[in-house]
Amino acid sequence: MKLILLFILTLSLSARAHGPGKNNDFAGRRVLFIGVDGCRADAVAAAIERGMAPQLKALIESDGGLMTRKFYAGGELNAPTHQPTVSGPGWTSLLTGVWINKHGVKDNSFLGARVQAYPHFMRRIKEVNPTAWCASFADWPPIHVKIADGSRVNEIEFLDEKITATPDAKRHYIDNPEKDIEMRDEALTSLRTRNPDVMFVYFGQVDEFGHGAIDSRASFSPDSMLYLNAISHVDSHIGELLRAMRARPKFAEEDWLVLITTDHGGRGNSHGGDSDEERNIWLVASGRDIPREKLLSEPTPQTALVPMIYRHLGITPKAGWDPQPAEVKSADPKNP
Ligand SMILES: [Zn+2]
Repeated sequence: MKLILLFILTLSLSARAHGPGKNNDFAGRRVLFIGVDGCRADAVAAAIERGMAPQLKALIESDGGLMTRKFYAGGELNAPTHQPTVSGPGWTSLLTGVWINKHGVKDNSFLGARVQAYPHFMRRIKEVNPTAWCASFADWPPIHVKIADGSRVNEIEFLDEKITATPDAKRHYIDNPEKDIEMRDEALTSLRTRNPDVMFVYFGQVDEFGHGAIDSRASFSPDSMLYLNAISHVDSHIGELLRAMRARPKFAEEDWLVLITTDHGGRGNSHGGDSDEERNIWLVASGRDIPREKLLSEPTPQTALVPMIYRHLGITPKAGWDPQPAEVKSADPKNP
């Protein structure tokens, strides 16, 4: 009898850990966070306008969907939070919820990074919910090697799935679109065969096209058809991820927050400065409890993403965490 009880208890505990539907640590709430590197806001708007990003368009127009172009990168001008609009600081801000004055990442060398003290948000999630299932897919290796691994305490892994692909720098990242397909397929397998609570999927080709790395005729511009084509490719990957999410057997019981954004814009073939084209970015979001009015009407820093994720999952940041609890509450004053 005791054995049977123990068996039932073990079953119910393991089912609660990271099962489908409502059988997770967050009563069915889950997060799909998609990152599109170096994707200018006016270019994504142009792609949508021209029918080249039908998946994003459909998500924005769906129930609970929105796009804001009042999202910004680069911290606050003339303040300690001011940071270059490059990938290292940008992704660190998106994944930790703090700016350079705290995370310390100045460039893509990550020298001086303080992600031990201001860690990747999935480490925080695992601290309060050790049975949560966190997955990350990226074809820009520093996302994992520097930001995620750098956040580990005593090298203890907090990612249940961590899949990295490395584009060939010697070949000018010409294989980046293929690596994006690899990342998409790995993420699709996870959505179809596992029960992720929180998932981050990164696509790199839009930035590489902007830099002219893959095709020298391309640039960071809404007038560059090659750049818009790259956005269109990633849009189709996004569509496949959304279809796999909606096709999950217990999707009706699940409550997904979808967040899609970029780390910075660009101009010509580069980025890093303080121009509007580099600082002004975008957020496409879909979910039951997103602070819609605030996002649509007020400038919102890219550091606001992590608090939105905590809020959706019902995680109250502990004292000593950063972002602090107060920052989470300010995400929507009417519904703290
Ligand atoms: Zn970037």
